[in-house]
Order: sequence, then C-alpha cells, then structure tokens
Amino acid sequence: MRPMLKNVLWQRHGEDLYLVADSEAQVVLSDPAGGVEALLCLLREGTRDLGQLAAALADRVAPCTEAELSEALGALDELGLLIDAAAPVDLSSYQSARYASNLAFFATFASLARSAASFQRGLLDAHVVFLGTGGLGSSAIQALAGAGVGRMTLVDNDVVELRNFARQYLYREDDVGRVKVDRAAEWVRAYNSAVDVRAVRCWIGGPDDVTDLLTDADLVVSGVDHPDEIDLWVNQACVSSAVPYVRGGMLARRVTYWSVDPGRSACLECDRHAPGGHAPELGVTEEQMRTGLDRVNRGIGPVASLVGAMVGLEALRYLTGFAPPIAAGCERFCDLASGAEEVRTWQRWPDCPACATVPASRRTLAGTRSHG
Ligand SMILES: [Zn+2]
Repeated sequence: MRPMLKNVLWQRHGEDLYLVADSEAQVVLSDPAGGVEALLCLLREGTRDLGQLAAALADRVAPCTEAELSEALGALDELGLLIDAAAPVDLSSYQSARYASNLAFFATFASLARSAASFQRGLLDAHVVFLGTGGLGSSAIQALAGAGVGRMTLVDNDVVELRNFARQYLYREDDVGRVKVDRAAEWVRAYNSAVDVRAVRCWIGGPDDVTDLLTDADLVVSGVDHPDEIDLWVNQACVSSAVPYVRGGMLARRVTYWSVDPGRSACLECDRHAPGGHAPELGVTEEQMRTGLDRVNRGIGPVASLVGAMVGLEALRYLTGFAPPIAAGCERFCDLASGAEEVRTWQRWPDCPACATVPASRRTLAGTRSHG
C-alpha cells in the first residue's frame, strides 16, 4: 500500500491546520508540533509505503512507530482524505479515458480500501433491467449507458408514436411505427458499443412475467404505469428475487421516486399493511381516482428528464455504493413550482407478506456484488 493524499488544500493558523478537500468538507486538525503537516506533505507525493513514510517522518520531524503511523493514516482515511496509489486499476486505457469524469466523481468517495476504478468496475459488471422505455425509461437508459452499465435488458411492448417525441429524446422521427425496445437497444449500441443490451418486447401480465426477466439482474428501473397492479407485481417479483428496484413517476407539477432494497428497507407491501402506512386518501378513494380521472401522463420533457436523472442517480447508489440509496423505503417528492422537497418514509412491517422472510438483496456495503 502507498497511501496518497487526495486533492486537499490546507492553511495553518497557529497550532491548527484548516483542510479543504474536493468533497468540500472542511476539517480542522490540531498540529502543535508540525508532525501532521509533515505527514500531509509526504502523503501528497504518494510514493512511499508505511515503512518508508515512517523513515521519512523520523528524518524530518521525530521518530514514530508504524503503529502510530497506522493510527494517523486511519484517522485521515476516516475523513475521506486518502487513496492507495498502489491499488490496481482494473480498467483498460479506453475505459479510463471514456469514464474519466466518472472516475473523478468516484475519487471523492474512494478510500485506502476502495479505489475510484473499483466503483467504475462495479458499473461495468452490473446488469440493469429497465421496465419501460418511455419518458422515464428512455432518460434513465441514456444516463446509465453513459455511466457504463455493462448489461442492459430493455422491456416494453409499445411502438414509437409521434406523441412520444416531446419527452422521449432517445427516438428519432424515422422510428415512428417501429418497436420501441428495438430502437432503444440500437441507440444504446450506437452510443456505447461495449454495453451488452437485450431487447424484450412483452406485456407484463403478472409478477411471474417480471421474475422471468430478473436472471442475473442487479437492479430494476421501473417506469411502467399500466396496469394498475404493476407496482405491486414489480415489488413482489423483485423482493422475492432479492433484486433492488427504483421507481419514478411524474405529475404535472410534482416528481416522485422511491426504491426498495429487499430485506433491508420497507417494501411497497409493508407500506400497504403497516399501521399508519399508505398515502392519506383526502376524501377521494384510490378506486375513485382510478376510475374518475383520466390517465393522461402530464409530465413535460424536462420533467421526464429530471425524474430519469434522479432515478439514474439512485441506481448508481445501488450499483456502486458510493453512497447509500436515499429513497429506499420512502417516497421522495419534489414540488416543481416551489422547489420544495418532501419525504414520506415507509415503516417496515414485520409481518409483510412480501418481504418479512426474504434474504437481504445481494448488494453489499462495499458496492461489490456476487451472483448466486
Ligand atoms: Zn415488505
């Protein structure tokens, strides 16, 4: 291991060092004897292992044991300030160039134990199933193909229509009348030829249809609105298969998204069954809303892009672990008129028929995955 300081600036004020890192975190370290500043200077070079660091410190300041040095490095790592300059980079030069901005982003979350490249590797090895390639789906597909998700299964039953173009930027005018998933898969191949993409044209008629699509899946992105039971079917299939899913939706003035992390977060059935769960009906029952309101999706183009981006970012949290998912077991709403955000958290229900006894999803805290 060769510990290396990330992009960090510091300024001394008396006995204290004021540090600013690229994560914009500001830290104050006490350094009356100058040993911390000497260590930071050595770490900035990133060329020394522990023994060489201890020797260089002894030369410049005062002798320190490797145990003392390890403790200091652990504290700096805890603050998110270090990477291992000797960590192997499991990416080709093409991948390092193509995903340079991803690597810069992940560097903020990297540590001595986890390199920026390993986050990208998590994406390249991931398989995401997209239910729906419409307003939300086409935006999320573009975001995750750009991010470098290695395998994509695209599921939809529709053909491209003229009315899609106001918010589904993935399609072209000469696609009208053609099968959406085929055109979406061709877009992905043209944009990122390394993605292994599969197009499945089908109508989902129950949870088993979803389960059939989940072989080797790491995550599901769902943007399907019909039929009414679709979210419960997706929930049932994903929870029983221990595959997390992210769902987004839009109204004329509100966007919303949620995710379910099986065995870890509450699921949609928990919310239906737990005391105090489910959205208040405000005098109008769900049944009345279903039958009494037309089902036109009123989301406009930029709103569809916004929801697709929020869902795409939540997907990246699951796939890489750069941060924990922020919508697991809760609905996040954003009012587009005021910009106000609202979160409605679901309670996990111990007797939930869907998730009470399922194993935790395969996602690990390190963001690395194993199938089986
Ligand atoms: Zn549940």
